[in-house]
Amino acid sequence: MQAVLFPQPESIAIERVPDPTPAADEVVVQVARCGICGTDVHIYRNEYMSDFPLIPGHEFGGVVVATGHAVTDVRVGDRVAVDPNLYCGYCDFCRNEQSNHCSNWQGVGITRAGGFAEFAAVPARACYKLPESLTDLQAAFVEPLACVVHALKRFRISPGDNALIVGGGPMGLLLLQAIRHNGAAQVAIVEKQPARLKLAEQLGASAAIAVGPEQDEQLRALAPRGFGVVIDATGVPAVIERSFQYLRQRGQFLQFGVTPKDATIRISPYDLFHNDWTIIGSFALCYTFQPAIAMLASGVVDVNPLVSDEVPMTNFADLFHRFAAGQTLKVHIVT
Ligand SMILES: [Zn+2]
Ligand SMILES: [Zn+2]
Repeated sequence: MQAVLFPQPESIAIERVPDPTPAADEVVVQVARCGICGTDVHIYRNEYMSDFPLIPGHEFGGVVVATGHAVTDVRVGDRVAVDPNLYCGYCDFCRNEQSNHCSNWQGVGITRAGGFAEFAAVPARACYKLPESLTDLQAAFVEPLACVVHALKRFRISPGDNALIVGGGPMGLLLLQAIRHNGAAQVAIVEKQPARLKLAEQLGASAAIAVGPEQDEQLRALAPRGFGVVIDATGVPAVIERSFQYLRQRGQFLQFGVTPKDATIRISPYDLFHNDWTIIGSFALCYTFQPAIAMLASGVVDVNPLVSDEVPMTNFADLFHRFAAGQTLKVHIVT
């Protein structure tokens, strides 16, 4: 089969590799689409937990074409989305509903071969059957949306709350739609690219504010006492540091964007104390595939406008670099 390979950090190859065969508890999925994600960029730069060589890709769905002999609940022909987070189910974390921190964690497309390939062998238990109405495009959004659903479960939006999302990339635009439907009265977004600001408005942002000298004044006009929820969806340390100024007293700050591992920010412990602030992290997803599928199937979240490029695997390197440079929205590799 044809596959995208990261042979070593900072290098991309498109190669022919042997077709995968399923182990007893695995199935082989013929990949329909796989999305390029910021995490793939961190993997490429060797800023993540991956070993090389690696076939990346963890946002995908497709059709099951082969099953291992011990697989009973997934059949050839099933359309599925694949949860790339393989947790053991028996460590302390798994037994405390924290499968995303599993001590024996493995990741499809992160620590083992993933979805930027014609086929991927994955454990049957990682497969979620899709409603017929769900398109292949939507199937490739189940994983990123499941991360957003996990984030929503990490903090509380109170009815009528005002929220600010910093960063209007694909994840920021998913967060925007999900938070709107979770009871927030106002969801503002700050972003530097005009096209993304326009899209944010179309997708329901109550205000879409351009990064620039007027940004602070505009945000103060919108929320004179600050926002109840501020979410970083940039992963840029300097931006994160600045974003605390928009947080209301007793506000919740959510770190959603992925920074480099060794990044640091400065924050005043006095401010944290005096303002009753809560700072929350949100890592990956945790039993949230099912609600993500439900939100896509019901149309609560519209992902069609978030895809800027749909290309074959042969264009991977070009689109990957453009994605990393922030020149695209979500890129789907169509196989
Ligand atoms: Zn991802
Ligand atoms: Zn575990």
